[in-house]
Amino acid sequence: MNRTATLTAENGPFFGLTPDLLDLQSEVRSFSLRRLRDRARELEWEPKPHDRIAWDLLQEVSDRGWRTIGLPREVGGGGASALELALLVEELAYGDMGFAVLIDQCLKVQRIVYGLSSGTTRERFLERFTGDPHCLLSICFTEPETSSDYIIDGGDFRFRTRAEQRPDGNWVLNGYKRFVSNAPEASVLCVFACTDERRPAVSGTSAFLVYADDPGFEVIETHEKMSQRGNNNGRMRFDDIVLPPDRLLGEAHHGYAGSRQILKESAITAGATTLGTARAAYELALEHARTRVQGGAPLFSHANVRCRLAEMYCELESARSLIWRAAWAVEHDPNYDYRLSSAAKVHAAEVAMRTCLSAAEVFGGLSIMYRECDVNKFVRDCMSFLHSDGAQDSHRLRIAAMTEEMLAEDG
Ligand SMILES: Cc1cc2nc3c(=O)[nH]c(=O)nc-3n(C[C@H](O)[C@H](O)[C@H](O)COP(=O)(O)OP(=O)(O)OC[C@H]3O[C@@H](n4cnc5c(N)ncnc54)[C@H](O)[C@@H]3O)c2cc1C
Repeated sequence: MNRTATLTAENGPFFGLTPDLLDLQSEVRSFSLRRLRDRARELEWEPKPHDRIAWDLLQEVSDRGWRTIGLPREVGGGGASALELALLVEELAYGDMGFAVLIDQCLKVQRIVYGLSSGTTRERFLERFTGDPHCLLSICFTEPETSSDYIIDGGDFRFRTRAEQRPDGNWVLNGYKRFVSNAPEASVLCVFACTDERRPAVSGTSAFLVYADDPGFEVIETHEKMSQRGNNNGRMRFDDIVLPPDRLLGEAHHGYAGSRQILKESAITAGATTLGTARAAYELALEHARTRVQGGAPLFSHANVRCRLAEMYCELESARSLIWRAAWAVEHDPNYDYRLSSAAKVHAAEVAMRTCLSAAEVFGGLSIMYRECDVNKFVRDCMSFLHSDGAQDSHRLRIAAMTEEMLAEDG
């Protein structure tokens, strides 16, 4: 049952950061504080969704190598570990969750494409992605009819989006996806489609690269969200899109299983994103508690407020410990326990929600005055991760299913 039993004291987790990681953390933190946070607030309610994206900062992030950091160094990436990815998105979300997700989606897709593809598929993708500093990527699972199913994964589900291979070798893609981050602006989308209806998703789903300029691709709607307004989510249609064989990622029918294996860290970075925003809420609340005087003394001198802030600190540290522990295990544990990824996401997202609501309590009525206090934005942003990257209960059900499997294996 203990899947991490192979870890010993020698190769066990190190709860500190190397000088390189500390440098990355401080560089991103400073970018977030100096450049990102105010800019995100300024752009959040722009009437046109496209204008809510900080394109100039995306350029800067690309120039700094963070957008491509998940690719191996030999193809111009940063060769980042799961822990580096978690640090990067935590610090970006410390500035703005929407912007952090903009980048995190690129990190996920670049790892899937690189991991599953080779030859011309990989070369063409890299050319598009690394050659254009504004190139955004999307990962497309969610459909109107099939959504939590793909996270829970225990059932006999199939994606409704379908691709059929014609005798000439080309694939024809049809269907709908929705809620997908970056979709309205993405140049390249990684789309999961059923390619063998006789089999469940795990052995009957293929992953394809769709380019935004492919005939038959359409973003039908840009969703108006209350959270993460620094990126846009789309509902899309794939209408008889003809995809040449080199748009298939990896083996036919195994795209879903293959991508899930590569994306061990996806739920971990989701957790790290919520942690970054929650930490920002905590720091603002602490600062406010030190300066706001009520009852003849700063709020921070009142026992209830002190306890609240202490609890926020405890919760943030517990979330970070689990995220780092899971990220570390991704790289080092040959028997990686996939439950850790879901645990990191579920715990951090719950902590983030509680922390932001506590911060709002410390700010009192000011937290409702949207131009005067960032905390309402943090509450809204963190709420998105109760569902984004999978509903909380879906991850709990996934943990339970994996536990059951392990118990069965152990007899
Ligand atoms: C901000 C944001 C960004 C997103 N970005 C992306 C993206 O980039 N790509 C992408 O593919 N998707 C994306 N999503 C979609 C996200 O993955 C889904 O919202 C999530 O998987 C939940 O699906 P749903 O919203 O359809 O909820 P539903 O599946 O309708 O679930 C509703 C509720 O029912 C419960 N439930 C559902 N099924 C079961 C079951 N079988 N047993 C018990 N309980 C169940 C759930 O736990 C949940 O509480 C995003 C969502 C948001 C909010």
